[in-house]
Amino acid sequence: MLGKITMPLRLYNSMSSQVDEFRPLSDNEVRMYACGPTVYDYGHIGNFRTFVAVDILRRVLVQSGYKVRHVMNITDVDDKIIRNAARDGVTVQQYTAKYEKTFLEDAAMINIEEPILVRATEHIQEMSEFVRRLVEKGIAYRAEDGSYYFRIAKFPQYGKLSKKDFSGMLDGARVDVDDYDKDSARDFALWKAPKPGEASWETPIGRGRPGWHLECSVMSMEELGESFDLHAGGEDLLFPHHENEIAQSESLTGKPFAHFWFHARFLLVEGEKMSKSLGNYFTLRDLVLKGHKPSSIRYLLASVPYRNQLNFTFDGLKQAAVSVERLRNFRLRLSSGNFPAGANPDMQRLASETTDRMREALNDDLNTAQAQAAIFEMVRQANAAFDTGAIRKDDVAPLLAALAKFDEIFAVLDDDDVPKMKRVLDWARAEGREKDISAALREAVQAGELSDSAIESKIAEMKAARASRDFKTSDRIRAELTDAGILVEITKDGIRWRRK
Ligand code: AMP
Ligand code: ZN
Repeated sequence: MLGKITMPLRLYNSMSSQVDEFRPLSDNEVRMYACGPTVYDYGHIGNFRTFVAVDILRRVLVQSGYKVRHVMNITDVDDKIIRNAARDGVTVQQYTAKYEKTFLEDAAMINIEEPILVRATEHIQEMSEFVRRLVEKGIAYRAEDGSYYFRIAKFPQYGKLSKKDFSGMLDGARVDVDDYDKDSARDFALWKAPKPGEASWETPIGRGRPGWHLECSVMSMEELGESFDLHAGGEDLLFPHHENEIAQSESLTGKPFAHFWFHARFLLVEGEKMSKSLGNYFTLRDLVLKGHKPSSIRYLLASVPYRNQLNFTFDGLKQAAVSVERLRNFRLRLSSGNFPAGANPDMQRLASETTDRMREALNDDLNTAQAQAAIFEMVRQANAAFDTGAIRKDDVAPLLAALAKFDEIFAVLDDDDVPKMKRVLDWARAEGREKDISAALREAVQAGELSDSAIESKIAEMKAARASRDFKTSDRIRAELTDAGILVEITKDGIRWRRK
């Protein structure tokens, strides 16, 4: 039997290369920055694997009692964006607006809580100022074409995050692409001079546009201060992106930049690296178009601890759907059942031990798999107790409370899949992608949509509840209807409804 928790949150820190106790720099507020998407295409499940991992971290911090200031950038100018916008004959802003919107919709679809968003194109002047100060300190230099580079020889600690030994590096060798050869140390571009036809901005250091690494240094420090608690991203960002962020920021401020470095491991699909050429590349919308529920996707992405390799498979996705269904059914069975008065001490203990076990699992470097195992063990034992009539009225609240604690992190219990799936279906129609809509998606949406008579009967239930001043029930039904895409208006003449 496990006792009360005394253990604080422990997280793997890529800087120390070990699991360390996590304590924020200031009392009870955690300041964290996560590298966000480059908005040049729809987000794929690999991206969302990382964003779900960061969302879980954020939710665990909140559950631990911290206030969390979570900032995420939107990279809305880079080489790919400029290329694609030119190809489509639109401006960079027009091009990125669409993908930023769809990214945020997709993140909301899998219940990722929205961070404070910062956009690269809205901080161009601050970025140029940052470069100017680096030049003033002799750390950055201007090349003949008007681009600026970071001189890594000026930062002897270069390589401290990636643990690469750059002692033999060539002083003055340069690279101007953002994502370069993993083993080379080169002076990297902070600021790029304009090329014909490319988006660029007029600034005191000249015309041009920021490099990707610079964006994150400038915006994170602006929002969170020169030193903050945690910086997150997928494992591919560790080098060169995060190494370069550290070099830029610390050489300018002389202070440690982020204290914890959090990296989520890359996801595989059916055992292979996800790639368009292998045909195993899926956006979130591709999966919904195939008829999969957003809750199953979130559950699966959350089920493997972030430092373990998640092998995404369609079998796994089906199992995730079964797991979510089982939890939802259990909650329904508990909240709608009639139980004899009193309390069963075994059930009371089960609920509190499960809560403790989940907490311990999550405190142990976010062991989501263990937390899920704990809740399923509770469901198994409580279901057995149901069948023998061993659950009492007073056991319901603690069991529901344990489920609620679980859901504060996993966020899969509310049954709002159908309206979300319907939005994807409508989007596919609007985009002329009718042929990509699977029969499974059509059926799921149809089956989940309420008929007029079903809505009328729910409205009648609402009226009855209101007549007996049971506003809680009335509000619950109204929320259910809203989730199902029905707008309910309560007027002095009665209750009206219409489909959204
Ligand atoms: P991007 O839009 O390419 O800048 O990527 C956004 C985020 O997704 C970054 O944190 C990446 O590290 C992460 N990411 C990209 N591909 C994968 C993958 N296959 N598995 C996990 N995370 C990924
Ligand atoms: Zn970044």
